[in-house]
Amino acid sequence: MIRVLPPEVVNQIAAGEVVERPASVVKELLENSLDAGAQRIRVEIQGGGAERIAVLDDGGGFAPEDLRLAFASHATSKLAALADLDHIASLGFRGEALASIGAIARCRIVSRRAGDTAGAEIRCDGGQLGELRPAAAAPGTLIEVRDLFFNTPARRRFLRTPQAERARIHELMQKLALVRLDVDFTLVADGQPLLRLPAGTAFEQRVVTAFGRELAGRLWSVERSSGPYTVRGLLADPELARRDSTRELLWINGRLARERAATAAIRQAMRESLMGGRFPVYFLQLGAPPELVDVNVHPAKAEVRFVESRRVAGLLHDAVRAAAQQRGAVAAVGASDPGSAIAERPVARSGFPDLPHDLFARDRPPPVFPFPRSSPTDAPAEAPRPNPFASLPERFLQVHDLWLVFAGTDGIVVVDQHALHERVLYEQLCARDEGRPARIQRLLVPEVVELAPRDKAWLLEAAEALAESGFLVADFGGLAVAVHGIPALLARSSPRALLDTLLADPDDEEARPRARAAIQERFHSMACRAAVRSGDRLQPAEITALVEQARTLRHPHNCPHGRPTTLNWSQAELERWFRRRT
Ligand code: ADP
Ligand code: MG
Repeated sequence: MIRVLPPEVVNQIAAGEVVERPASVVKELLENSLDAGAQRIRVEIQGGGAERIAVLDDGGGFAPEDLRLAFASHATSKLAALADLDHIASLGFRGEALASIGAIARCRIVSRRAGDTAGAEIRCDGGQLGELRPAAAAPGTLIEVRDLFFNTPARRRFLRTPQAERARIHELMQKLALVRLDVDFTLVADGQPLLRLPAGTAFEQRVVTAFGRELAGRLWSVERSSGPYTVRGLLADPELARRDSTRELLWINGRLARERAATAAIRQAMRESLMGGRFPVYFLQLGAPPELVDVNVHPAKAEVRFVESRRVAGLLHDAVRAAAQQRGAVAAVGASDPGSAIAERPVARSGFPDLPHDLFARDRPPPVFPFPRSSPTDAPAEAPRPNPFASLPERFLQVHDLWLVFAGTDGIVVVDQHALHERVLYEQLCARDEGRPARIQRLLVPEVVELAPRDKAWLLEAAEALAESGFLVADFGGLAVAVHGIPALLARSSPRALLDTLLADPDDEEARPRARAAIQERFHSMACRAAVRSGDRLQPAEITALVEQARTLRHPHNCPHGRPTTLNWSQAELERWFRRRT
């Protein structure tokens, strides 16, 4: 027997998709306040939000009669007809958030429009709508949510500790607030102010306040546009790359959301300067015509799709690449601002501790910089890092046939000679080939290789770009392709091995290098790997030559695969380490 489910059940099911935890409630309520044009928003939470969440705003408010509909599902003021779905400019549009929240908590809305003489109040208790009553209220809206999941114990059991839930809310609010610099945000947890972001704070400032002082002076600005699309924001020095992707933040028309191809394109653009297994840190805002963005693909609106996915991915790729090459640090950002004064500073991510606890741990890769790059007493921002080889002393120490040690302009410099060698070779290759088609080594007998269907499809699609890089492939029927030529630089490698490397990326096609430049780059780094043998003992003259070449490098700090080439301990850092100064 088929039944139409009663509305409470429908709403509970919807709530399962929209409200996963207290932070999801805060997200929906904040988005509503922003959509209502609020200039000030105050969030209060108790018990990690499970006991109570209250969001108070000074936005447009509800008309009293509309309050009756607030908790009805699919009730929204933001969408009237099907056609509106094509160009959504508000954060909300599904009309499901309040209905979902009302179904699984005890809620209350008190609201007043600026022009009305009095406000009104309505409650909704586990889906049971109360009476509409007049209420005294300042213009704006208060939405209060108590006892989250009180009637869905299974959900309640999935909640983490109040501290953990509170941290999620804190982080979420920092992220949502980043792109609304015109709005004043406050978060109060259990009576204690946790976050205060005054309106008018600069973007960099909010980023540093939210994500840690180590970012100060190490954020590069990104700005580019292509037709109706624009991207702007900040990219962090790749040395600050993380082991997780939680600082890959992209706002699409003001909405924090993910899109696979976009994420892949940005990672691809950074690949060369990131160590394996690290994720870049960026804070980018993409502006796109709303009709070319589909925001209606995820119940919590966390994903979007682009009509012109490739074009957007290309723009992001180019923008990030250019920023990474220019390394143009944004203007000095103070290490503290009015907002951070009371902002809780979670110890684990507000900068390097005095000495990293894992400095001597053996099972981890060595920290990129075992000292804080800037301490509170240092200048607030750092200039782009100078080339460590700029002025060189006569004498070097070669240690274990691998490290070069010498006195730098400030302190001690340690160089990974092979990483440096690769970088030198790589830049020479690039310089040689710039603007010229790659030299091709034609094969007397084409090599025929069978591939998985999607590998073959990708390869043929990229054939033109591959050809520019000197790699000639053609369809050979069935699942086979024929390789007719390979880049001369790679003449010593087998075509099969080259194909394998080209196709070796994660099975996500989007992550594969598509653009001509990316493919060329990949060939170059293959060439480097082929050229450099490790464990070579360099003769003094060779060392001098190598370092001499390093003086003109464009990117002296990393090898083409992103490993650092140098470690520089400044005098100040050495003195701190040896407790000569505090
Ligand atoms: P949506 O945001 O998708 O429209 P919601 O369930 O989140 O759906 O909200 C339903 C409606 O309630 C909104 O369309 C809006 O008209 C109104 N609303 C919600 N929160 C506020 C608020 N803080 N101020 C004014 N109106 C609000
Ligand atoms: Mg909403």
